[in-house]
Amino acid sequence: MGADMTDAPAPQPLMLFNSLTRQLEEFQPVHPGEARVYSCGPTVYNYPHIGNMRAYVFADTLGRTLSFKGYKLTHVINITDVGHLTDDADAGEDKMEKMAAEKAQSIWDIARHYTEAYWADVKALNIRQPAHWSIATDYVPQMIEFAKAIAAKHCYELEGGLYFDTSTVARYGALARAKTEDGEGRIEEVEGKRHAADFAIWRKTPAGETRQMEWDSPWGRGAPGWHLECSVMSEALLGFPFDIHTGGIDHREIHHPNEIAQNQAHSCSDASGARIWMHNNFLIERSGKMSKSSGEFLRVQLLIDKGYHPLAFRLMCLQAHYRSELEFSWEGLGAALTRLKRLVMAAVPVREAESAEVTDHRLTDLLAKFDMAISDDLNTAVALTLIEEAAAMKKIDAGQKRATLAAMDAVLGLDLLTIERSDLRVRPKSTTIGEDEIKATLGRRQDARAAKDFAASDALRDELIAAGVEVMDGDPLGWDWRLDAN
Ligand code: AMP
Ligand code: ZN
Repeated sequence: MGADMTDAPAPQPLMLFNSLTRQLEEFQPVHPGEARVYSCGPTVYNYPHIGNMRAYVFADTLGRTLSFKGYKLTHVINITDVGHLTDDADAGEDKMEKMAAEKAQSIWDIARHYTEAYWADVKALNIRQPAHWSIATDYVPQMIEFAKAIAAKHCYELEGGLYFDTSTVARYGALARAKTEDGEGRIEEVEGKRHAADFAIWRKTPAGETRQMEWDSPWGRGAPGWHLECSVMSEALLGFPFDIHTGGIDHREIHHPNEIAQNQAHSCSDASGARIWMHNNFLIERSGKMSKSSGEFLRVQLLIDKGYHPLAFRLMCLQAHYRSELEFSWEGLGAALTRLKRLVMAAVPVREAESAEVTDHRLTDLLAKFDMAISDDLNTAVALTLIEEAAAMKKIDAGQKRATLAAMDAVLGLDLLTIERSDLRVRPKSTTIGEDEIKATLGRRQDARAAKDFAASDALRDELIAAGVEVMDGDPLGWDWRLDAN
């Protein structure tokens, strides 16, 4: 456990919802004391939207929970820089090639630019660095070896490349359940495919064409299929089987069933690769601003430009259970920011205290409840109310309170013991007035009021309003002013 505790109740078993069985299961590590987790990472052809980032806040919360429970965590997130087609059901163009052609840039430059943009979002949202960022193009030789090993028994060659025959493995698509069990809804665009659900594991470059990214293989020059990447990189870095595989709920339907089929073929067994498959539900937004094809789509940077601290978005994600849909709205983000401000302010008095062993039963009780919540398939919504209770606790040893908040925040990742309160002000990029100027004008207004010169005081207030500053006399949170959002 993250905090020193005495007389604490036995830690809760960690229960996680396994998409394979659609049930809560107790986490039992493959290697005692360790937790090995693989998360499907972004395809770096464009900026991630905030929905994509919800998937990594979830994976990070899982990783932090495993650390809190005392497991030595090895987390891998991959970077897909080759192979992901515009349609998951094995049709369309390679997303990377398409963007490179549109921008008339090298694929490698595109990949570098968007990988760095993704990493900036990871940092802004306080997502811990995984042990490995596995880059797909670094593993192409291993992907070819993997494909060679399963080709004879499980694959067939077509004009377009090497295809996986999904009828050669037991219970193909079990993860997706009825929806895609028989490949329903897949586009049968490729002539000669034996089953609609069959998918390319090697895509041959069409005769007379060259791709920016291509490699030689026994099936001709070409590029690996997207599903192959994750099977190969997860095994290379985490072994087989490993503990937990994560991704967004869309991956439960096609990408992960295909990874599982490959893993079964490669291991000549029924083993799916990971013991537990976990999927976060979607962040949704009604006006279509999350579509990457809409002009100003919802990115973490846009939230920052509008003046919101990015950890308000993290808190917004934690308010919902990861398996529930979450609807994004600016009002919701504003409310999450206010909640974060209250938490940070409540923690201020114990910030400088030295952490002490937690023995006060009011705090050990809260820590035990927190453990119970987070062990219940990551119930972050309840965990948040518990950290608020701890933060609000009065007449309690400062060192013990600090240790409690630190232990809880190690799971929630809200930085509440280090974040500067002033950083939580809504500060739109478009604002021109500086903080010093605001404070000076407020000071003059104060003097005018003290001298009962209300005309001057009102004029100064109007001056501030014109600059987008709302004066907040008597604000219960002690904020004297704020900038208008937008
Ligand atoms: P991609 O870059 O498209 O491969 O997506 C990266 C991750 O984001 C994957 O795990 C997706 O399942 C996940 N994802 C995509 N859209 C959303 C969304 N709206 N809400 C939550 N997760 C999403
Ligand atoms: Zn994947």
